[in-house]
Amino acid sequence: MNEFLEQLRKQVPGLLINTDAAVIAQACTDWRKRYRTSALAVLEPMNTRQVQAIVKTCDAFNVAISTQGGNTGLVGGAVPAAEGHAATRAHVVLKTSRIREVLKLDESNMTLTASAGYTLHEIQEFADAHGFLFPLSLASEGTCTLGGNLASNAGGVAVLRYGNTRELCLGLEFINAQGELCGDLRGLRKNNTGYDLRHLLIGSEGTLGLITTACMKVYPRPQSRCVAWLNVENIHAATEALGYIQKRLYSELSSYEWMNAQAIDVVEGQFPARAPKHGQQGDHVLAEFTSLGTEFELRDRVQTALAELLDDLASVQNVTLAQNGREIELFWALRENISEAQAKHGLNVKHDVACPVSALPRFHDMALQSIEEHGIDVCPVLFGHLGDGNLHFNLSAPAGKDAATFLDQHQSTLNSLVHEAILNCGGTISAEHGIGQLKASLLQQVTSTSNYNMFKALKQAMDPADLFNPGKVIIV
Ligand SMILES: Cc1cc2nc3c(=O)[nH]c(=O)nc-3n(C[C@H](O)[C@H](O)[C@H](O)COP(=O)(O)OP(=O)(O)OC[C@H]3O[C@@H](n4cnc5c(N)ncnc54)[C@H](O)[C@@H]3O)c2cc1C
Repeated sequence: MNEFLEQLRKQVPGLLINTDAAVIAQACTDWRKRYRTSALAVLEPMNTRQVQAIVKTCDAFNVAISTQGGNTGLVGGAVPAAEGHAATRAHVVLKTSRIREVLKLDESNMTLTASAGYTLHEIQEFADAHGFLFPLSLASEGTCTLGGNLASNAGGVAVLRYGNTRELCLGLEFINAQGELCGDLRGLRKNNTGYDLRHLLIGSEGTLGLITTACMKVYPRPQSRCVAWLNVENIHAATEALGYIQKRLYSELSSYEWMNAQAIDVVEGQFPARAPKHGQQGDHVLAEFTSLGTEFELRDRVQTALAELLDDLASVQNVTLAQNGREIELFWALRENISEAQAKHGLNVKHDVACPVSALPRFHDMALQSIEEHGIDVCPVLFGHLGDGNLHFNLSAPAGKDAATFLDQHQSTLNSLVHEAILNCGGTISAEHGIGQLKASLLQQVTSTSNYNMFKALKQAMDPADLFNPGKVIIV
């Protein structure tokens, strides 16, 4: 493979090619440290032309490309495949973080055009500096990249109001498996001319092409913000309260996050902040409201609606409004620190599931009941974007039990039971984290043959040599 690297140097002048063992090892280890694979080199192109030349050279030498943005994905999508035929292929990791050719805003069109390598946080800051909001918001925003957000169709905490990454994208450019530049950045809100390649690339997890630039929607920056913490009896109450609030404050509600008592126990155990009125029986909801009007008007509307909610729904026990910016941060920290607190607490069996909001309580009860019926003792640390019908249904070992042994004994049964329950409720086994290599065989099991064959046909048509991310999403 020395010949390949030599050719790469020739064909892509100025390309950063790193063959240092420590750099390769780091790039081949995923965020959750489930996969530790290897590659010939880590490539860091600076622009679209270099990406085109890399793809052509890799194609000529049959070297697979594992595209990597911030490497914060949770399903092993950004590191070379660890198992199966794909694991025997020679790979390079192509890091996109230096692709930063474009970052501009069109105020009248309300769009922002940016290269794939910018982090989400940089893009939010750029929009904010121009008086706009780029609403995509994830706990990994300091590290994840725009390209990775698009490739994984990231969701996050503001989907309820603004939609996921797909809904925010008006156009993108990508390099196909032949090394050609495809797509467009015109930022059109109406364009019915042929197939819309943008939607094929969004959520394709780097298996159909390499996204280099995208044109995204921006919104007017809200002028006021109000955050409420609700103590509720259970997930049934949280779902009922959501319907009540949406009827009154539909345009203002931007996030609606549910957490069970154990999730708050875990986060309070690892971080000093305390949730309002924690200790009484029940679950928690964080609801955020924003508006283009004044703080006073928004607070007044939210206070009135939530006071009525307390009167009308007995299963809502208490409502606390954050009094200032510090309290808003504190409330959000409780929600955003759950994953990290749970990781510190020990290994757990994770599920990222979704179903219609109306079916979520049924799914919740069905999954827990079925786990109980199988005699498995778990500590359910459950939370998520209830407003989007999406739960992170994470199951930890009960207190005093060894986490690794718990995983060894029960992981596979717990996965089957949770997936069976969510499919039973008309839902999906992956709401926002995607498929990657972690769930590639599961995808085949839960997808109809006709749909899976269409997936395969698309992959084969767009990437006949299986150059991009082999062994991920679709097994060809
Ligand atoms: C703490 C934490 C919180 C998170 N919270 C959320 C959340 O709330 N909602 C949510 O949806 N996700 C969440 N995630 C996971 C989420 O998918 C990522 O954070 C993010 O979208 C991935 O971006 P990335 O740049 O890190 O991509 P990577 O991890 O580098 O890659 C992800 C996938 O995209 C592909 N890819 C990357 N860049 C490109 C490109 N330019 N062209 C083509 N393919 C590409 C990769 O090959 C891989 O398959 C979270 C992750 C962490 C660690």
